Amino acid sequence: MPKVGARVRVPFGRQRLVGVVIAHAGSSDLPPEKLKAVLEVLDDEPVLDERVLELAEWASQYYHHPLGEVLSAALPKLAREGAASRATCERWFITPEGTTALADNALSRARRQREILERVAASDGIASDSLAEDTGDWRTPMRALVARGFVSSADVAHEPAAEVSAADLVRGPGPALSPEQAAAVAAIDAAHARFAPFLLYGITGSGKTEVYLHAVERVLRRGRRALVLVPEIGLTPQLVSRFRERFAVTVAVLHSALTDGERLAAWRQCVSGEARIVLGTRSAVFAPVADLGIIIVDEEHDASFKQHESGFRYSARDLAVLRAQRAQAPVVLGSATPALETLQNVASGKFTRLSLPRRAGQALPPRAALLDLREHAVRSGLATPAVEAIQRHLAAGSQVLVYINRRGYSPTLACTACGWIAPCRDCDARLTVHLGAARLRCHHCGADAPLPKDCPQCGYPVKHVGQGTERVEETLTKLFPDMPIVRLDRDVVRKRGDLEAVVDRITSGEARILVGTQMVTKGHDFPNVTLVVVLNADQGLFSTDFRAPERVAQSIIQVAGRAGRGSKPGDVLVQTEYPEHPLLVSLLNEGYDGFARTALAEREAAGWPPFAHVAVLRASAVELPPVIEFLRAARKLARPPSDLKLLGPAPASMARRAGRHHAQLLLESRDRAPLHRLLAEWLPRVEELKTPRDLRWSLDIDPLDLF
Ligand code: ADP
Ligand code: ZN
Ligand code: ZN
Repeated sequence: MPKVGARVRVPFGRQRLVGVVIAHAGSSDLPPEKLKAVLEVLDDEPVLDERVLELAEWASQYYHHPLGEVLSAALPKLAREGAASRATCERWFITPEGTTALADNALSRARRQREILERVAASDGIASDSLAEDTGDWRTPMRALVARGFVSSADVAHEPAAEVSAADLVRGPGPALSPEQAAAVAAIDAAHARFAPFLLYGITGSGKTEVYLHAVERVLRRGRRALVLVPEIGLTPQLVSRFRERFAVTVAVLHSALTDGERLAAWRQCVSGEARIVLGTRSAVFAPVADLGIIIVDEEHDASFKQHESGFRYSARDLAVLRAQRAQAPVVLGSATPALETLQNVASGKFTRLSLPRRAGQALPPRAALLDLREHAVRSGLATPAVEAIQRHLAAGSQVLVYINRRGYSPTLACTACGWIAPCRDCDARLTVHLGAARLRCHHCGADAPLPKDCPQCGYPVKHVGQGTERVEETLTKLFPDMPIVRLDRDVVRKRGDLEAVVDRITSGEARILVGTQMVTKGHDFPNVTLVVVLNADQGLFSTDFRAPERVAQSIIQVAGRAGRGSKPGDVLVQTEYPEHPLLVSLLNEGYDGFARTALAEREAAGWPPFAHVAVLRASAVELPPVIEFLRAARKLARPPSDLKLLGPAPASMARRAGRHHAQLLLESRDRAPLHRLLAEWLPRVEELKTPRDLRWSLDIDPLDLF
């Protein structure tokens, strides 16, 4: 009988699909003739252990999402299609006939066959890979040798890397820990055999990664394994190499830019247990890691831990905490700008706070100041004092980082005469000018059109209004013609290796000015950057989304943290038209802590998360009326208890996106339980509503965006 957690191939309608055994049942309510037999058992041993299965089941209930789709998110594509869970390699062996043939010099007229047979004879089963490496075309002669019965082949299990002895575990010990770092490591280590959630709250550059490395070392010494989750763009080659350089064990890396084959290979290293450390983005929370001794979630506030676009919408951070609970292991959420939810978990005593209030080594915290845009001359988005500061820092031999959260050349293309503005045909949004590529692009649906020189409406010339990274780069090139500039945004980083190339130009010191979007805020360590200029802090200050201020504060603090990480002190200039805005004032004067206090008080007063629990039912269709109609009908089906609020339906703030109209219904409750009880009872009835063919809907629990 296949084991629970093993994959099996089963008939499904006219198809044959891969399924996962989730339980053994002794009987069935279905008549025997309706039951079908498993066609093939794919795994002798479970590929999803009991705890991962439990996690998936829990997630399926909590997110009200089918278990099959949850499990599907837990497996790499090739594993879902039935690829073997263990890597094998083809090896070649000489037969007794082959040995005789060699001795008799029987292959004197087939030189290639003879050479290859000699190589096979000299090895104890040679792998195809080694033959391919240095033998040129070997398949053809090998076929001949097999046909003559001189060689046979077998698929042999891939040999896992040898166990590393305790003495050889650490390749290089790293710096001596500061007292705060040592205390954090000790606290985590003391919790090694039980569930204990920690917030490692350390300012940028305070040495959080060093704490992770030491905590992981203790776990490895206990013979257990570590799972480290990082944000989408936080999984930099720098981070991976810090783990690989520190430990002489197999580190499996799982992220979205891998090819299917690479992902399968990394997953196999998890299944076989060969990987002692698993480093991955969101979906790695489901990686089959046995004997888990610690889970680390780096930059835990990062939005990429929440899958919110399609399919199974889950928070990998929240699931990581749950997984640690099941595994009876500590979980460390690290950040310089923790999510307000996490800070509230500390305040309520659920999480233990570990603080790293100082920068590691010699580095000092940066000095930050607001720059009032209304008081100074502004040229292409740069105020005069900012330009002067850039000049000073460059003259002192330092590097400068200019942050603007918008890619492209300008966010608006407008007519100089009639007031026409280039709109997206399919969205309630303007098209962004990409001057280098001479295209107009929509950042919401991907629409892409040639860039016109004249107004399509009246024929007068058009102008570019506002700035994006591309324009800021152009301005800085004009201002500082001798200074090499690099740009870092999604238009520059398109394929593998691009990010590394840009990062190299900065760390090598070749580039002096770096212009970028929030891509520059994540995890990089540029020791020679001493000035950070934030161009558009105001974006998001007045958003309707209750989380927008939190995001503004996080990105300002994160990008500011890029300044002065080496021995030279850093400066941060934040340009704004609202220097009196309470958020900016508390952030600049009291840091993220001060901001978080203010923001949490506001959330509590307004009854928003973390002081309430929210779910949103989203729907979209080509026309708006059926969307509203569907949400209204859904609302009518709900029988909410008195302390649960239903708000809407309301059109989304960008109602039309990619040719579809979006609207939503919000469910809000002070306590979690009544909300989930309502959802469990209500969703099956929503599913039965008759909807037009083009209408799509989805449920998002603990949504990150309410727009
Ligand atoms: P974070 O993850 O908090 O941004 P890192 O762990 O990357 O910080 O540390 C920032 C820099 O300081 C790194 O170059 C790291 O090697 C160095 N560092 C960390 N801890 C120490 C320490 N105790 N002594 C000296 N240097 C340290
Ligand atoms: Zn015009
Ligand atoms: Zn669009």
